[in-house]
Amino acid sequence: MPLGLESMLTDEIIEKYLKAGKIASKVRKYALKMVKPGIRIYDLCESIEKKIVEEGGLPAFPCNVSINEIAAHYTAFLGDTSIIPDKSLVKVDIGVHIDGYIADTAVTISFNPKFEDLNIAVETALERALEFIRPGVKVSKIGEIIENTIKAYGYKPIRNLSGHSIERYNLHSGTSIPNVKDIFSLDRIKVNRVYAIEPFATSGIGYVVGGKETYIYSLKKEGKMKNEESRRIIKEIKKKYNGLPFAERWLKNIISERSKLIRVLKNLVKNKVLNCYPVLVEASTNPVAQFEHTVLVLEKEVIITTL
Ligand code: MN
Ligand code: MN
Repeated sequence: MPLGLESMLTDEIIEKYLKAGKIASKVRKYALKMVKPGIRIYDLCESIEKKIVEEGGLPAFPCNVSINEIAAHYTAFLGDTSIIPDKSLVKVDIGVHIDGYIADTAVTISFNPKFEDLNIAVETALERALEFIRPGVKVSKIGEIIENTIKAYGYKPIRNLSGHSIERYNLHSGTSIPNVKDIFSLDRIKVNRVYAIEPFATSGIGYVVGGKETYIYSLKKEGKMKNEESRRIIKEIKKKYNGLPFAERWLKNIISERSKLIRVLKNLVKNKVLNCYPVLVEASTNPVAQFEHTVLVLEKEVIITTL
């Protein structure tokens, strides 16, 4: 290993990861109390993001509230009046950062007894994966543990969603932690690294597809745009989010009219200035559950920052 790589995490950096984790955990518990059938998803997302700031952090990405067959990437859009439905399965995925050091955590809340077993399967899969993770372990082995645990409950892991390594201002920094035994992945867990482990499972076919809707974007490459509002958007997201994902609704101060805002954002995607993250839906439209924690892998210990 090249000199210096092993000391990538200084005490100061570790402190920031731990602080982000503590806030994320507190906000997740706050979200658990808040999520109820009938509440507006817009209010939920905004309250959760506000709570992150009140606790001394910043959102590392828009609060995701993904219901039933929606697996991920749903956040309230500008003017969203939808509510948490009765008898639903609700995933809340929360990201917090301190100076770019990220904690990523998710929980699933069931308002339907028939989803409870699915929830237990995923929560157990996450627990087992967390018990197993340490430097040198093959990521495919973690995927195998997750897959076997979920299958033992009679469900399927979502095979095209995975956990990920995290770096400063970089939520998905290169290494994927599969949710199935992936024999093609030769990666191993490295020391002084940060990983998010996030099993997903379903009673359906076991993979997700991108839907038509997109409410989350990130800066890909700063491009020169002629349009004045496009330039304002690029300037603002670069300064405020530094490459981290942001929500359409976070730009309402620049363009308050949704149809216009979408037009400008879609144009920026077309010009390869922005990445977009379409809402991900289970391919057979069956319900999906997800649990997630972030871990700091140190030489002598593995710390779950979001516990
Ligand atoms: Mn997450
Ligand atoms: Mn994640």
